[in-house]
Amino acid sequence: MNIILLGPPGAGKGTQAQRLVEKHGMRQLSTGDMLRAAVKAETAIGLEAKAVMERGELVSDAIVSALIGEELDAMGPDTGAIFDGYPRTAAQAEALDEILAARGRKLDHVIELEVDEDALVERITGRFTCAACGKGYHDKFEQPKIPGTCDKCGGTEFKRRPDDNAETVRTRLAEYRAKTAPILPIYDARGIVSKIDGMADMDEVTGAIEAILNS
Ligand code: AMP
Repeated sequence: MNIILLGPPGAGKGTQAQRLVEKHGMRQLSTGDMLRAAVKAETAIGLEAKAVMERGELVSDAIVSALIGEELDAMGPDTGAIFDGYPRTAAQAEALDEILAARGRKLDHVIELEVDEDALVERITGRFTCAACGKGYHDKFEQPKIPGTCDKCGGTEFKRRPDDNAETVRTRLAEYRAKTAPILPIYDARGIVSKIDGMADMDEVTGAIEAILNS
């Protein structure tokens, strides 16, 4: 199964994708994670993307589509893919069609997480992750049970994304509205879009996604 999780930054795409990975052995393909890894490794792509990401703007379509193709090639043909943060433009949506067709895959569901934009800035600026295992936390909504210690792996170092500040978040939301939201009609026309309430409790959102996958 190949699915897209679509929604603005902070909608919960990453959290839900991780749950699907754990439950179904699917693979999360997050272009944001791939780009952050490239920035950290100081590859040519990373060096090109760094400043663009810090501003909250979009990296070039060609770069992210190439990353997605490489990741799919590294997966077994029977492993399901969860696209998280990709596609983000009409050109990327077109590229994804070609990428999937070339590999004998097809898109089963586009799941849109609908959220209230005002809540997103608070959600995003408060989030942090365990530096060792990547488990997500939030200053206000989900602190580790033992302060300073990761619930999942016992790690004691945490990190925040440099682009999770209020100013950059506003640019990222504007980019979503201008370039990403307009791709929904492409998938709507194919009858594969399901909309769910991304403001609901995380477990409820997971339940709604499971119901769509089983439909
Ligand atoms: P994310 O982790 O999905 O919020 O992505 C973080 C940043 O990486 C974005 O603000 C963009 O600068 C860049 N990025 C991630 N995915 C894409 C994409 N599909 N197209 C263009 N830029 C992207």
